[in-house]
Amino acid sequence: MPYPSTSDAIEASLQGLVTTFPSLCTRTAFPNTTNSVGMMPRTYSFLKIGKGSGAARPAMLAVAGLHAREWAPPDAAVTFAGNLLTAYTGGAPFTIPAFTDSAGTIHGPVVTPAGTVKAIIEHMDLYLVPIANPDGRAFCMAAPANKMWRKNRAPLPPPFNPALIGVDLNRNFDIAWDFDTYYSAAAAADPNFSAHTSKDPIRDVYIGSSVFSVNETKNIKWLLDNFPITYFIDLHSFTGMVMHPWGIETLQTSDAAKNFHNAAFDHLRDGKLGAAYEEFFPNNAPSKLLDRHNALVTAMHDNIKDATGADYTIGTSADLYPCTGTSDDYAFSRQFLAPGAPAMYAFSVEFGDASEGFQPTPAQYPKVEREVHAALLAFVRYVGIWQGLVPSVVAPSSPSSKICFIATAAFGSADHPDVRFLRSWRDALKERRSTRNAIRLLEAAYSQVSPSIAQYLSEHEQARRVVRMYLLTPLISMLRRLFGGIAHNAN
Ligand SMILES: [Zn+2]
Repeated sequence: MPYPSTSDAIEASLQGLVTTFPSLCTRTAFPNTTNSVGMMPRTYSFLKIGKGSGAARPAMLAVAGLHAREWAPPDAAVTFAGNLLTAYTGGAPFTIPAFTDSAGTIHGPVVTPAGTVKAIIEHMDLYLVPIANPDGRAFCMAAPANKMWRKNRAPLPPPFNPALIGVDLNRNFDIAWDFDTYYSAAAAADPNFSAHTSKDPIRDVYIGSSVFSVNETKNIKWLLDNFPITYFIDLHSFTGMVMHPWGIETLQTSDAAKNFHNAAFDHLRDGKLGAAYEEFFPNNAPSKLLDRHNALVTAMHDNIKDATGADYTIGTSADLYPCTGTSDDYAFSRQFLAPGAPAMYAFSVEFGDASEGFQPTPAQYPKVEREVHAALLAFVRYVGIWQGLVPSVVAPSSPSSKICFIATAAFGSADHPDVRFLRSWRDALKERRSTRNAIRLLEAAYSQVSPSIAQYLSEHEQARRVVRMYLLTPLISMLRRLFGGIAHNAN
């Protein structure tokens, strides 16, 4: 499947994966076809990857290609699926090959061990929509004059005007969609907002005539409505950013009344113009939503940096620019409207940089592809292992715990998913009579040497990378298999 792939080639490649790996994935057509000016209605599909079943099994949805002109993420999402399935079937690691940057520095390889690949396939479900706007992409690729097309190709409500076609799919979701109601007049008119969100059908960022006014966004909503998805990521390009909600506003964690569905604040929300209104983002236990979103964006950032050296910015979507109707804010918001709904973790990533732009050349593409793979691997490692394999583990213990000095230094954060895993594993083994004494002896010996090694690691990035890649990641993968067995036996 040579980059850039047509929408037809992407659809065919999904069927190719199902044919090659029939026991590991399925392809399902969306309930709504496309409805585009001058094109036949198109049936398109999503892929589900996973082996096994069970009520506690976490599910994740990854979407690419909502914006027609962003050519790299859809291709990279398909090759990610192919590489993951190939690694699993071969009992092999998923290796992102080494990359030499423009300064001659070699990055990677980034190796996800075979045991981790196995846990990902067997302990979670991955729903993958590699091309969410297939007609937009087809139009965009059809002629050089169309190269900057962003929207879908839907006819707008009558009277038909050939100059007015398409909706910005990533403004059409049901989250603060009618911005004139949600925001103050000043916020809605602020150039940093109005440049990126509009009710004018001729604009690139047209929000549509209503929420979910077009079939492509209806289909994403249908996925979220009908499958137990609690992790969501939307893949875009290009500004090198790893983001979590909110995009509609700056956030705060203390005032639950300031939320998007509280009409008392209609016409009062100020976007990024001020702090009088900031959107509530709960961080209370046990979900610790903000902490866990931060842990995941950090894990994706670090894996991308290891793979190519690109140092993506971490932040909220509003840091890019405030906007309404986006897929990740919508996915995140649903948990607050349905009492008893499980926690939802939602993200968006802008891949690549200005030199690569919306359409990296075939020579530039392999770097962006590595970055997409690195982010997705960090994500599925978290979902498949941390949530899928050890769902019974709850609050991690104190960040100052002795055994984690080296791991914390190597991963750069006491809240990195792998560090939290090590802590939980250690604590579980300490509680078991058969392993308690061995763990205590190991801890005592470890505490003699770990502070000095941790200090060295904190000062030497290359050493941190080596420790992560060759020591801790395989060790953690092995421990997770062991821990999975313990969790199973305890039931
Ligand atoms: Zn985009």
